[in-house]
Amino acid sequence: MRYDNDSCCFRCGRPGDLCYHYSNKQINQCRYRNVIIESTITAFIFHDAGLKSLIEDVAQRGFANKNEYQKWLGKKCRILGWNGTNALAVFEEIVRQRSKK
Ligand SMILES: [Zn+2]
Repeated sequence: MRYDNDSCCFRCGRPGDLCYHYSNKQINQCRYRNVIIESTITAFIFHDAGLKSLIEDVAQRGFANKNEYQKWLGKKCRILGWNGTNALAVFEEIVRQRSKK
C-alpha cells in the first residue's frame, strides 16, 4: 500500500498523531500493520457487505476496480481534525454507519 507523504504512519495507516511510534520518529518500531486499510479494502471487495454506496458517497466518485480504489485510499485527507488518508475517511464512515444500527 502506498500512502501520500506525511499523511499517516506507513505501517499501521493511522494518522501520525495517533501512532506513538510515528509521532516520535520511531516508525520502524510500529508493530501494527494496516489496521485501517484492510477493512476499507474488504468493504470494497465483498459486495455482500453493502458498502459500495457508502464508499462512493465518501469519495464522491466511483471506481473501476480495486487498484484504482486502492490508489485513492492512500491519498491525503483531513479527517476528524487529523492529517490522515482517504482510507481513514472511509473507515470512519463505516464505523459511524455501523454505530447507528
Ligand atoms: Zn503506526
